[in-house]
Amino acid sequence: AVPLVVAVSTALAAKSGFLIRDRSAFERARNLQAVVFDKTGTLTEGKFGVTDVVNFSDNLTDEEILRYAASIELHSEHPIAKAIVTSSKGYMEVEGFRAIPGKGAEGRVNGKHVMVVSPGFLRERGIKVDDERVLRMASEGKTVVYVLIDGELKGAIGLADIVRPESKEAILKLKEMGIKCMMLTGDNRQVASWVSKEIGLDEFFAEVLPHEKAEKIKEIQSRGLVVAMVGDGVNDAPALAQADVGIAIGAGTDVAVESADIVLVRNDPRDVVSIVKLARSTYRKMV
Ligand code: ADP
Ligand code: MG
Repeated sequence: AVPLVVAVSTALAAKSGFLIRDRSAFERARNLQAVVFDKTGTLTEGKFGVTDVVNFSDNLTDEEILRYAASIELHSEHPIAKAIVTSSKGYMEVEGFRAIPGKGAEGRVNGKHVMVVSPGFLRERGIKVDDERVLRMASEGKTVVYVLIDGELKGAIGLADIVRPESKEAILKLKEMGIKCMMLTGDNRQVASWVSKEIGLDEFFAEVLPHEKAEKIKEIQSRGLVVAMVGDGVNDAPALAQADVGIAIGAGTDVAVESADIVLVRNDPRDVVSIVKLARSTYRKMV
């Protein structure tokens, strides 16, 4: 039988904005020592907007670069893709679309091979970008993706996301409770560092590929820490499953929600604080 205090807590949990899917994970939450947050869509709203286009081409306009990129992104589900699609007035037909997990997307447009990719992808290809405007975007915490046509660098697109106003407060409270706050992201180091400073994180891991996220959680656990992971994306599901306490943002993907022990109904990172508090008070009453 479920002890009465625990049954009461389930009702209190719903009132506090979260749903418990796995009771033993909720019990472990009272001993949490580290919380690892996904960046995009969790600490930030995950709603990007295009802010800049840097044109490296001598025969294409900014609009044309955006149109090539948007044509590819029309077939992608990524929040970056949505922003690029919105920024373009028209689209061209795409053949052979393919997502490159954690790195970008590609396809053929007008017989040309078009790629929209991360800074990490360019680095792997040995392409160096030494442009003042791109450096400035990065220092402002903007996400930068590159447009390649037939292997040639044609442009850079700068995008900005909004840090959830609640994130900073959530981190402050967790740190007061003696819990380390960390962030895991596929985005580049500069953006991660900017967000991390902005909200006061203890540690961050950038340019983590989708299949490496669960491995990172394991690494943190091997320091002897009881770890919670908070995420929203398909990419986050294995990390949510690996964590001692997996917490999904309710508005996230079905896969994330199904892999989680606890679901945040209001998508408010401050509700992670409520989880720990309620877990502590619930299981203190039981000896
Ligand atoms: P996150 O951890 O923020 O959810 P992802 O692993 O989904 O990040 O993506 C990591 C990086 O890969 C993005 O910051 C971007 O540079 C690149 N990327 C992934 N998908 C796309 C796409 N469809 N278009 C452009 N860039 C992409
Ligand atoms: Mg995310």
